[in-house]
Amino acid sequence: MVFQDLGLDPRLLRSVQHLGFATPTEIQQEAIPAVLVGRDLMVSSKTGSGKTLAYLLPMMQRLLKSRPLSKQDARALILAPTRELAKQVYAQLRLFVSNTPVTAALIVGGENFNDQEKLLKRQPTVIVATPGRFLDHLEHKSVFLQGLEMLILDEADRMLDLGFMPQLNAINKAAEHRLRQTLLFSATLDHTEVDELTVALLKNPFRVALGSGHEQHSDIQQQFIFADNLTHKEALLAHVLKHEPVKQLIIFTATRDDAERLATVCVDNGFSAMGLSARLNQGQRNAVMQQFAAGKYQVLVTTDLASRGLDLLQVTHVINFDLPKHPEEYVHRIGRTGRAGAKGQAISLVGPKDWASLQKIEGFLRRPAEFSEVEGLVARFKGPTEPVEKAGKAAAKSAKSTTKAKHSGKPSAKTVKKAPAKVFFQGGDDGLAPVRRKKTPQD
Ligand code: AMP
Repeated sequence: MVFQDLGLDPRLLRSVQHLGFATPTEIQQEAIPAVLVGRDLMVSSKTGSGKTLAYLLPMMQRLLKSRPLSKQDARALILAPTRELAKQVYAQLRLFVSNTPVTAALIVGGENFNDQEKLLKRQPTVIVATPGRFLDHLEHKSVFLQGLEMLILDEADRMLDLGFMPQLNAINKAAEHRLRQTLLFSATLDHTEVDELTVALLKNPFRVALGSGHEQHSDIQQQFIFADNLTHKEALLAHVLKHEPVKQLIIFTATRDDAERLATVCVDNGFSAMGLSARLNQGQRNAVMQQFAAGKYQVLVTTDLASRGLDLLQVTHVINFDLPKHPEEYVHRIGRTGRAGAKGQAISLVGPKDWASLQKIEGFLRRPAEFSEVEGLVARFKGPTEPVEKAGKAAAKSAKSTTKAKHSGKPSAKTVKKAPAKVFFQGGDDGLAPVRRKKTPQD
């Protein structure tokens, strides 16, 4: 199938051609025809699958080809969980609205409310927004949704994780009429709130389930490495910086203090790096993102702020310095690399504090994590097989030796070797709940 087969307006086809895309991705092939015939849509897709165009193209087609329900109100509203994702979507949308009568506005938090009011007074055809700020405008009566024809929820699961259910319900209520078409995109369908939202918002939806988060992402090589503690993790990070062919790297970490400290570790290892933490204001965050996207920095260290929606094609590596608490987040983080067919490496460091998260990730992926070892930096920690206190001491001791190894420069590893098969313990005298392993197809 080629894009011409989808029966899209020539202006849209020209924009697609301008992007250099010849064939629709799988999700685009499935979703676009269904939306064009007016169906509601519920899509689960892995990150980087081309979902944005899967809704932007049929949305634009409807806006160009059908008469508006109302002269003043917005005709389409795209909601996204984060400012970064909203901006990315808006940037792609801009390309498609050029040379058409369709106008677009971006309404996200952290920016001037009055300026946004002025923008909304100009009655844009399409609004791309984050739910919180959009609802503020709705309540402030700077925008009305009686004429809304398409409501699109991008990364609905993430919006729900961020607690946006009340906002989504309120927005839905303001735009509830039988002619509305609703499209819902979610990385995972294993989410009770997504089910609730589907029931509340969608009418007899056409379902497309491609590559749920459980499937192995073939373009991303995933590696897990045990670490004893923070110092050990830093030594492993330094090893990766030294030995991996890193073009651009995103490091995910749990706390904003770590984000700043690890940026310094990268700089000390000869990399240009920036920390993107919640401490920065919106303007500063925008500047860091733009600079990273433009290739001005090799490393971006971040908490989860940037884990979704960023389209950064140069990112060859992702490091999970700490594992995320929610397993879906793991899938989104590693999805920052391996975009649009490029190959990517995702390396996750697993210390005693990450153990519970690892269990959840393995459960979610429905397969055991594949562990590697770095010569000279092999962890003593291999899972909680002994009382936690003892494990902590062992970790501290081992950290001393790795730091020593690092400073003496002796056993600095060149190769990353596969570790022997991990042994899973059924339980222990450590007072911790036994590790329960679900049967996987590999078992
Ligand atoms: P998305 O899942 O929308 O974030 O898209 C992931 C990446 O795929 C982005 O870089 C898109 O520009 C790119 N992309 C989208 N559609 C196509 C296509 N039909 N052919 C090649 N690349 C695409």
